[in-house]
Amino acid sequence: MEKILIVDDSIVQAAQLKAILEDEYDVSTAQTAEEGLRLASSETYSLILLDVVMPEMDGFTLLKRLQEGIITQSLPVILITSLTDVESEQRGLLLGAVDYITKPFCVPIVRARVHTHIKLYSYRRQLEQQSMTDQLTGIPNRRRYERYSAVKWNEAIRLHVPLSICMFDIDNFKKYNDTFGHPAGDRVLTTVARTVSARLHRSTDFFARYGGEEFVALLFGDTAEKAFAHLQNVRQSIEDLRIPHDGSVSPWVTVSIGGVTAIPSGESSYAAYLKIADTMLYDAKKHGRNQVVWADERMKQFWER
Ligand code: GH3
Ligand code: MG
Ligand code: MG
Repeated sequence: MEKILIVDDSIVQAAQLKAILEDEYDVSTAQTAEEGLRLASSETYSLILLDVVMPEMDGFTLLKRLQEGIITQSLPVILITSLTDVESEQRGLLLGAVDYITKPFCVPIVRARVHTHIKLYSYRRQLEQQSMTDQLTGIPNRRRYERYSAVKWNEAIRLHVPLSICMFDIDNFKKYNDTFGHPAGDRVLTTVARTVSARLHRSTDFFARYGGEEFVALLFGDTAEKAFAHLQNVRQSIEDLRIPHDGSVSPWVTVSIGGVTAIPSGESSYAAYLKIADTMLYDAKKHGRNQVVWADERMKQFWER
């Protein structure tokens, strides 16, 4: 059931609105704008019905605050108010309200408008989700990765914790396609993506398809030694799938992995660290593939073989 938040200082009015919506929706109420803001930031609502005239913080101010919050800015807000003048309506819509309903309201119209905005919001979320997901493998795609890495890089700087950046590349994959066919290659990509995702299961782990047969992982908090050891296990879990390959590296499908762990500082750039991970991957390929090569922040290298 989709969740709706009603913010209204009048208990009677809020109860009235709630009564006409609670058959179809999970409705909560807040009696002040402050409480509304707190609830909207912590819960997963699909729509907010907001009264304009309230003591202390009014609806327009709350609307502005919601638009400024990262979590709340995409939430649709319908203003419900006794202010019937054109200026107020204009102000509300310009502030970003998706709709404006004046009191006394007509029950079927309120229901219909609520229904429409909930449906639109649900479509939008679905599209957003799709645009961030790799179609073939179902894991996050490059676009999602670009956004995520920018946020996490800044977070690592702020919290002063190590961030590991890690590049994966399937070994001799061109040969795999040539030997077993492109559809079989697609199935390998999906299996590899799922296997690695399952092994990077902490809430702070991130794994995405970088492009083609390359993947990227971000890990938070581990030392270089720990991350290196963990990624060796992940690499091994791919080999252990025992997907037959042509045997030039191994009888099975394998991956090469390059990574770097560092506590980022304001002076360093994400691109520079990614470049190091890429260089480590290149070294792993050069030294025979099916292995992990890692670097710490002093560029001390860790070799698996
Ligand atoms: P290396 O071990 O050096 O990485 O060799 P490689 O053959 O894996 O590397 P190369 O970059 O020469 O070839 C990558 C291959 O990945 C070529 C391309 O056909 C294949 N590939 C990229 N994207 C897809 C995809 O979506 N599906 C399939 N089946 N193959 C893909
Ligand atoms: Mg490649
Ligand atoms: Mg490859």
